[in-house]
Amino acid sequence: MKLLLVEDEEKMVSLLKQGLGEEGHTVEVFTSGRCALGKGAPEDYDVVILDWSLPDMEGVSVLRQWREEGARTPVLMLTARGSTGEKVQGLRAGADDYLVKPFDFDELLARLEALHRRGEQQGGPVRLGSVALDPRRRVLRRETREESLTAREFALFSALAREPGVPQVRARLLSQAWGPDFDGSANVLEVYVGYLRTKLDRLGAEDVSIRAVRGVGYMLLFSERGGAA
Ligand code: CA
Repeated sequence: MKLLLVEDEEKMVSLLKQGLGEEGHTVEVFTSGRCALGKGAPEDYDVVILDWSLPDMEGVSVLRQWREEGARTPVLMLTARGSTGEKVQGLRAGADDYLVKPFDFDELLARLEALHRRGEQQGGPVRLGSVALDPRRRVLRRETREESLTAREFALFSALAREPGVPQVRARLLSQAWGPDFDGSANVLEVYVGYLRTKLDRLGAEDVSIRAVRGVGYMLLFSERGGAA
């Protein structure tokens, strides 16, 4: 798993980094709420471990903001206190699970794995350059902006997003978005690619583009660094 840990206590950080690392997981650490909000894109991780008490703000405020921005990544909250009030508040803000310090490492591991499995079954957001495709809500998101997709637009974009940088054959795109029995005008593909391009434009996603490939079909391109594709 690729994990994000938001925690300021050095002891806890090194303990978790070591323990989770030994289990084969990658752990990235942010030690303040501001860092987590500024640099951490929760969609880039499988599960987030978020401490309640951070030096600059409460973890629950970080969580609230992430959820408002539409991030659906599973979040496990840690607290030293464990009062019922905090638990309720955390869960209301969108935490998926909750663990009271001090906790047993194996229990943390088991819960993280359970959250990861749940997240995978639900089909978490897919990041493509500066844009995230959220299958659960059928939206394309970039920073605080969102564009909802129709079922067809979503199916077409997903078909293109499966293999970025690889030209996708027209017949296959048509079959994936309109079903194998599609016998309408093939021009419909151009029309829908147009809709998707408009939505990417509206999001200001200059690094993501749908390129026509002569004689083949279309391919989705994006740049990892956020420059124009
Ligand atoms: Ca702390």
